[in-house]
Amino acid sequence: MATTDHAKDELHRIRHSAAHVLAQAVRDRFKKDGQDGEVQFGIGPPIADGFYYDFVLPRSLNDDDLRWIEKRMKKIVSQRHTFEQSELSPEEAREMFADQPFKLELIDGILEGALDEDGEPLPEGQAPKLTVYRHADFADLCGGPHVEDTRQINPKALKVLSIAGAYWRGDEKRPMLQRVYATAFRTKEELDQHLWRLAEAERRDHRKLGKQLELFHLDPTAPGMPYWLPKGFKLLTTLIDFWREEHEKAGYQEISTPLVNARQLWDISGHWEHYQENMFICPVDEHRTYGVKPMNCPNAMVVFNLKTRSYRDLPLRLSDCDVLHRNERSGALHGLLRVQKFQQDDAHIFITPDMIEEEYARVLALTDHFYSIFGLTYTLRLGTRPEKFIGDVETWDRAEAALRRILDTKAGVGQYLVEDGDGAFYGPKVDILMEDALGRQWQMGTIQLDFQLPRRFNCRYVDSDGAEKTPVVVHRVIYGSLERFIGILIEHTAGAFPVWLSPVQATLVPIADRHVEYAEAVEARLKAARIRVEHPDAGSRMNARIRQATLEKVPFILVMGDTEVEGGTVAVRRRDSKKSVTLSVDDFIAGVQALVASRAAESTELSPAPAE
Ligand SMILES: [Zn+2]
Ligand SMILES: [Zn+2]
Repeated sequence: MATTDHAKDELHRIRHSAAHVLAQAVRDRFKKDGQDGEVQFGIGPPIADGFYYDFVLPRSLNDDDLRWIEKRMKKIVSQRHTFEQSELSPEEAREMFADQPFKLELIDGILEGALDEDGEPLPEGQAPKLTVYRHADFADLCGGPHVEDTRQINPKALKVLSIAGAYWRGDEKRPMLQRVYATAFRTKEELDQHLWRLAEAERRDHRKLGKQLELFHLDPTAPGMPYWLPKGFKLLTTLIDFWREEHEKAGYQEISTPLVNARQLWDISGHWEHYQENMFICPVDEHRTYGVKPMNCPNAMVVFNLKTRSYRDLPLRLSDCDVLHRNERSGALHGLLRVQKFQQDDAHIFITPDMIEEEYARVLALTDHFYSIFGLTYTLRLGTRPEKFIGDVETWDRAEAALRRILDTKAGVGQYLVEDGDGAFYGPKVDILMEDALGRQWQMGTIQLDFQLPRRFNCRYVDSDGAEKTPVVVHRVIYGSLERFIGILIEHTAGAFPVWLSPVQATLVPIADRHVEYAEAVEARLKAARIRVEHPDAGSRMNARIRQATLEKVPFILVMGDTEVEGGTVAVRRRDSKKSVTLSVDDFIAGVQALVASRAAESTELSPAPAE
């Protein structure tokens, strides 16, 4: 659903105004004998999905308070209070907020630092101005804009959400305030939709599911560097096996290169100068300093240079998925989505300039194939020449025109995004933005053209006219980082992976002790057929095992009792169904193998093979 600018402005005004009502309700909560209690007000801006307000309060807020505050807000907005703006002199403002230290600091910020009432820099050319907005008996330092009166805030579309701690001005040396998050929409339906998405996002949180499904671990001694546990590692290697197979078919040759190189390499590539702060540097002794690789590119250039290359060798497609490390600020880390250690499905393709169009078409066809396997929809985005670039404008223009032609054909004219100035400094790029089950967009793969790195490494090929020329390099990833891809895949599938990716594909549940022997025989047959089964745990009861398998989102539960032992069958229950079907062991094996071979996006129905 596209939100128009008008609707965005309206929501912005509603939330700006509702933030004042929130502050008013919190003040009312702490009123004593009709007198204002000791509430200190911080800032209360609208944000992407709602708004918040920061306070210093006599005590910590609890759930009862939040309910009370929401009720109070609804009452206030259903009465008609007009918002009135007035401009104040510095003296008037300081007098009005004399007992509000944070507001006094904001007033100073507005007067001296050209900041707005939330402490953010003012748009250029806008003069600092002290204004307050009043409604009912409440006034707040604010530049607006607001709705005309509180009746324009729909009480049915208003919700107080949560409390969090927040340092004043985000500075951990300053006081900790209590932040109340809330949201407001135009209609109850919009609010319900938003609350559903919040609940879904929480249910699908990959950090929670990663723990529950025993996929990965993040240790305080290695921030942002995931440990892959047996089940998560199975997922990772299955994705890499698929990548390897498809890329071999598509004419790529896989290499693996050192994880650590001496500084000289990073000097040539420019990483030492431009990227050092994102690298882990190891001083080995007084003469030698090494850098852990943050990217695979420089080593791919080294491999290219090992031989005299001819135009007939191009395109030369070198793929690799070595482990990379990037030094990030700890605040920027987030589960698998922002990490310091990761693998990319990387490749460097060396081409002549007139191969650009065809090679991009090939990479995009491969992208299509990969994304359709996972049932993911995506959008392409062209990033053009940034302000700071290297190389000559003419080469850039030619490359951009080539990319536009291929995108016009591939996605359709006007069916892709263009971000002017978003190209890398060494060349234009195409990004792949994927949409997940909740409609969230993620930047995944990227296909970048590079005229510079091959020059820095003095890469040459002998052209058809006998002249030595510099190749163009395409850097490309389709999954992006595998860690990030898995994080998103966990949230997209809520942990119920398609059969071919499931770390455990079937759980065996013998009903009683006398069925264990049969279950073990079935297990041996499944394992021989390379189906990943969970070992029956003789200790726990049948229902407990079924519950466990359901929690682990194992695609198939195989129950075995007297009937199954007699008939040499298994009663198969899918994770998303309460019904079971009885299949011969061979039919079950054939069904799972077919799902794995086709890499079906969903676990489809297994049915017995037709009678001969
Ligand atoms: Zn306001
Ligand atoms: Zn690269």
